[in-house]
Amino acid sequence: MPNILIVGSSNTDMVVQTERFPLPGETLTGGEFFLFQGGKGANQAVASARMGGTVHFLTKLGKDMFGQQTRKSLRDEGISPDLILEEEGIASGVALILVEDSGENQIVVVPGANGKLSPEDLTKAIPFLETADLLLCQLETPIPTVEALAQLARKFEKRLILNPAPAQALPESLYQNLFLITPNETEASLLSGIALEKESSLSEIGDWFLSKGVQNIILTLGEKGAYFHNSSRQFLIPSQKVKAIDTTGAGDVFNGTLVVALAEGMDWEKAIQTANRAAAISVTRMGAQPSIPFRSEVYGKQ
Ligand code: AMP
Repeated sequence: MPNILIVGSSNTDMVVQTERFPLPGETLTGGEFFLFQGGKGANQAVASARMGGTVHFLTKLGKDMFGQQTRKSLRDEGISPDLILEEEGIASGVALILVEDSGENQIVVVPGANGKLSPEDLTKAIPFLETADLLLCQLETPIPTVEALAQLARKFEKRLILNPAPAQALPESLYQNLFLITPNETEASLLSGIALEKESSLSEIGDWFLSKGVQNIILTLGEKGAYFHNSSRQFLIPSQKVKAIDTTGAGDVFNGTLVVALAEGMDWEKAIQTANRAAAISVTRMGAQPSIPFRSEVYGKQ
């Protein structure tokens, strides 16, 4: 089983359905209430674990009820507890989500303990980093921590994948330590400053990341699939045609699946096809973590 080290966020998503959003100062009676495990880091860790990876996940929780629940749920997924840290005096990350009957939503994310995952915390991950086949991180934890991880990856000659979500400007020095970057369309345009308006924009964006020092680029394109770009090859792998009912977390499933496929030694085409297949299954189901498929659904019974 491939060894994967994932560094990232854990959240508890509190979702309330409502006929309409309240006006300022107004109290409304809502519809149903749901509590989901979430956070891009945790979603990707769960996807990797369900795909058969041995996953070590460096994340930080508060010492509260939500933190305990998250710890239990990660353990139930078979994710190692070694790097699940706790910090006193701060709440675990939460997202408050109002979903209108029309489908519109309003979300407030409170990073809480995720915002306290520091470069120093990475020292605890070094023994696991040394034995990892691949490293994966996102941008829901502080940028200095991501930068420090990239430097460690370079020092230990480990391949680091950055899923640059949610979109935000990045320090230039980060790019040259990335084996792979996996932005979606919005993130790719924001980072490169190139609008995705025509077919040739894909290779323009790919070249832009190469010029910054990234070795490989995968642009995820929603229902259109995923585009691969490096200095020697460029190609598009179309997604599976499915009836999508909830695309939340599709990018997380793509990344969590891809990292395991690459760590198993699959070539780019096969790894991207596998990640497309897993993400397509996830969009046919509700919720982020509940919709993540298991290995047998993606690879068939083995
Ligand atoms: P995105 O973050 O929207 O680019 O989506 C990530 C990946 O999820 C894509 O590269 C596809 O593999 C998959 N995906 C997203 N939306 C759909 C869809 N409507 N149908 C099939 N696959 C999808």
